[in-house]
Amino acid sequence: MEYQRIMIFAAHADDEMTMSGTMAKAAAAGTRVVVVQMTDGCEGYPRAEMRDQIVAMRRQEAEAANQVLGVARRIFIEAPDMGLVDDKETLHKCIVAIRGERPEAIFTHGPVDGHRDHRNTHAISVDARWHAGEPVSATLGEPWRTPFLFYYKGVRDPLPTLIHDVTGYAHKRYEARATQVSQHTLFGSTREDMLAEARHIEAARPRSQETFWIAEANRWPGFPKGYRAS
Ligand SMILES: [Zn+2]
Repeated sequence: MEYQRIMIFAAHADDEMTMSGTMAKAAAAGTRVVVVQMTDGCEGYPRAEMRDQIVAMRRQEAEAANQVLGVARRIFIEAPDMGLVDDKETLHKCIVAIRGERPEAIFTHGPVDGHRDHRNTHAISVDARWHAGEPVSATLGEPWRTPFLFYYKGVRDPLPTLIHDVTGYAHKRYEARATQVSQHTLFGSTREDMLAEARHIEAARPRSQETFWIAEANRWPGFPKGYRAS
């Protein structure tokens, strides 16, 4: 987990919070943490009167979460919530993100998920990592091969293949979720309760772990002979 640059694909603002401790710990160690947020969250309004403001609200909440999690940059792909499509335009935007940031590891959704945006984020991000490394589409940036690919959720296998110690950072998940004020009805908790829980965990400092599934580690079958990322 000692990378200089990591990239996390999240279907919605808050999906990445599953790995809040890992993000905060990495950022504290000097890792550049970049989130690629696929959708605008336009369907996340729990009350009808919030509908016109929800995208702007969630954009502000995402900025607040960046502060808590140590996110250096959040790239907004801006697909409509519940309407993310695995098309060429979206793929190109993700290739630009990967080639621009040159991450050493990508964390994304696994393939097994009830939410269509999560499944499409999985498919698009895995494909984008692949195509970003190929010497094609030169106008989208210099090719970049991201050596490591992890899933942070959306996997049927109950046994993770990587267990990461986040002791001292476990409270960050509650702190981050507390910033998502428009989603608290969905979370079934209040900002005050989540912040209180964060303070409790921070003080108690229990041994804490986050789990991942290694999808690929430095394997590039069929890659053009002699080609190397700079
Ligand atoms: Zn989501």
